[in-house]
Amino acid sequence: MSVEWSLGPDTQVQFVKGVGPQRAKALKGVNVATALDLLYYFPRRHLDRTLITLIKNLEKGETTTVVAKVEAGGMRSSRKRKYYQLMVSDGSGVLKCTWFNGAQYIKKIFSVGDEVAFHAKVDFFNGYQMVHPEYDILNDDEREPLNTGAVIPLYPSSEILKKVGLDSRGFRRIIKACLEEFDLSQTEYFPRELIEHYKLSALDAALRHIHFAPDTNMLATAVRRLKFDEHFFLQLLMALRQSLTAAGGGQKMAETGPYVEKIFDLLSFELTEAQKRILAEIRSDMASDRVMNRLLQGDVGSGKTIVAILAAAVAVGNGVQVAVMAPTEILAHQHHALFNSHFSHVQIPTALLIGKQTSSDRVKILEGILNGHVGVVVGTHAVIQEEVQFKNLGLVVIDEQQRFGVLQRGKLLGKGRNPDILSMTATPIPRTLAISYHGDMDLSLLDEMPKHSLPVKTRIVNADTVERVHIFMDEQIDKGRQCMIVYPLIEESEKSDLEAATKGFDQLSKRFPACSVELLHGRMKREEKDDIMNRFAANEVQILVSTTVIEVGIDIPNATVMLIENAERFGLTQLHQLRGRVGRGSKRGLCVLVQRKITENSRKRLAIIERTNDGFEISDEDLKLRGPGEFYGTRQHGYPKWKIADIVNDGHIISNARNAAFSVVKADPRLRSPVHEKIRQRFMLDYQHLLEMVNIG
Ligand code: ADP
Ligand code: MG
Repeated sequence: MSVEWSLGPDTQVQFVKGVGPQRAKALKGVNVATALDLLYYFPRRHLDRTLITLIKNLEKGETTTVVAKVEAGGMRSSRKRKYYQLMVSDGSGVLKCTWFNGAQYIKKIFSVGDEVAFHAKVDFFNGYQMVHPEYDILNDDEREPLNTGAVIPLYPSSEILKKVGLDSRGFRRIIKACLEEFDLSQTEYFPRELIEHYKLSALDAALRHIHFAPDTNMLATAVRRLKFDEHFFLQLLMALRQSLTAAGGGQKMAETGPYVEKIFDLLSFELTEAQKRILAEIRSDMASDRVMNRLLQGDVGSGKTIVAILAAAVAVGNGVQVAVMAPTEILAHQHHALFNSHFSHVQIPTALLIGKQTSSDRVKILEGILNGHVGVVVGTHAVIQEEVQFKNLGLVVIDEQQRFGVLQRGKLLGKGRNPDILSMTATPIPRTLAISYHGDMDLSLLDEMPKHSLPVKTRIVNADTVERVHIFMDEQIDKGRQCMIVYPLIEESEKSDLEAATKGFDQLSKRFPACSVELLHGRMKREEKDDIMNRFAANEVQILVSTTVIEVGIDIPNATVMLIENAERFGLTQLHQLRGRVGRGSKRGLCVLVQRKITENSRKRLAIIERTNDGFEISDEDLKLRGPGEFYGTRQHGYPKWKIADIVNDGHIISNARNAAFSVVKADPRLRSPVHEKIRQRFMLDYQHLLEMVNIG
């Protein structure tokens, strides 16, 4: 007996019963073009009777759903502002729902007598209230199942979709129709063993139950399968990228060479155990014929640079050249000076390469790189530009790699004969995130701080207590120390950013008439910046006022005070980075966070910085507070947008998906086996374009 299915994965969505050309057009706007796309249009939430709270049982601070009838609504006003408020009741009590903006729009939506599901965090302000809740006006068919215990899907919608009748109810109808006529049994792409091994639900069941689940358990099983799938394909990308270099093709750098030992002997300090361990990891990567692709994570001040210098010394000792990339010119200059101070002892010429150099300088440098005279090139990403040709590039060091967007790994590898790549970052990446976005790299963790370093003390102050900090700065400067003041980016404009810093600079110059105060910002000429940084490094400048250009990497051991203005405007990891700029010498540093606009959230965020110096804890919190997109600029990585996966909370699913993907690639590196054919097709659809573009950023 054969069943005739009228819909397949490629069927245009307009042919789904109840859709038609007009709705199909609106659906295009939310990337639903085919019948299969429609099945992947997941509910944003489910209404489940067991998760609905009676108003009399509400508790302040919990996020929940209330189903209640609209009793009254109208504009209200307090001393400060006007707002729109609904009074709703579910028979057990009364709840207020409040909107501070968009009143004109909200007003038109609700009528007295409507039954509505409201979803938000519960506040208490003269009685329970929800501010700007999500809402769904319930139709009869939605109210009905509330009494039966079924789970109702609520779909994301928009004005455009609603105009063509695609509110939650409209979506339920067309998706139901689609499920009825679609041969779901053909959707599965995983081999049976994989499904059994990871105890996954079959895809057809998952696609059905994510929309219409008989109960919450089945819904949870569906959610787990669909999350697994999204993580799986990203991990498959990581596994494939890794297998591209695992086969060999790198340069073997097995010699110790004459330079490491000499540089090592001249160090004024002992390496920490962690530094030694990581150096050994790097050396073993370099010695193998596999191309190294290692990410070195180490908190601010953990001493990554010296590791890079010693790795570079090994490379040069094996007769290859080294390129070092820094995200800013200031940092490139500083690194160049530092690398040069070590390599000049062993008579290895180094060169600095940045965007703005006179053409005669540049020609000379490029020549030296091409004929192999220059052993180590330090620069901004100018070092990987087209016209820079190496005689034999063997190692690329990328400092503060999180600051480089997407770098084309292919381009980098093409610069030499598959050079090894060592990326370094001071942004400790929470584990789940590291696996998801750097799963093709080997990770090294520099988890020990040099002994001399005393943790920076951190204090939050407000506008009224800044003067006390100024007095402390006076004392420090009297003792010969230096201070940095940083201003945030205000709005997305460089101009206002500069204005705030300039104004602050004027005030500070007046407040500290006996000191040399300088202003540093991104739009200055390089010579000016260099001049100021050099004079700051020589303690000819005591107070350096700057915009965020100062943020990464720079090392001025004599600076002990870091004052951050409008600290609430910074991300937590950024604050931690800034704080790491002081107290790098033998004196304890102080970091002062000036909080100008106090909200509950900003207070919470800054308190985390005040409480801990542990970069990992901070980045974890930051990730939770901001979400992965903001935290890590994942949008710029060009990964397909996930519909259901959640990088913060899916830890267990991620590690299963990773195991599954890596085993598939291990068994079948090019996905050529017939059992993987469907996985391959699916992968090609969403990820093929990313296979070459290995992200190092
Ligand atoms: P980061 O990891 O933030 O890039 P740096 O490499 O700039 O840190 O190192 C911070 C400071 O610590 C530098 O002044 C460096 O010379 C010093 N340093 C590095 N390793 C050690 C060590 N093992 N013992 C003492 N000081 C060290
Ligand atoms: Mg550094």
